[in-house]
Amino acid sequence: MPAWSGSDRAARLPRDWPRRRARILRRDPVCQVCLLASSTEVDHVNPGDNHSDANLQGICAPCHATKSGREGGRAAAARRPPARRPADPHPGLIER
Ligand SMILES: [Zn+2]
Repeated sequence: MPAWSGSDRAARLPRDWPRRRARILRRDPVCQVCLLASSTEVDHVNPGDNHSDANLQGICAPCHATKSGREGGRAAAARRPPARRPADPHPGLIER
């Protein structure tokens, strides 16, 4: 379940969000954070209400959860060591 469920996040997204989201997922089929897993969600590079393509990137659910959590507690994250090694690549992504 998306982290923003229950908040007003969905209401603040642009009307054409579903189309925009599909476009970003086509543009970034691989998670732009770990570069390993398939993108299943769209992330705002800089959190906020900038929904332009330049501020959106495809991201996998685990990275999105990590990033969203970090944005919620940025000060604490600044003191934390860098993220651990990304998860192993999805088997379906190895052959190209
Ligand atoms: Zn990822």
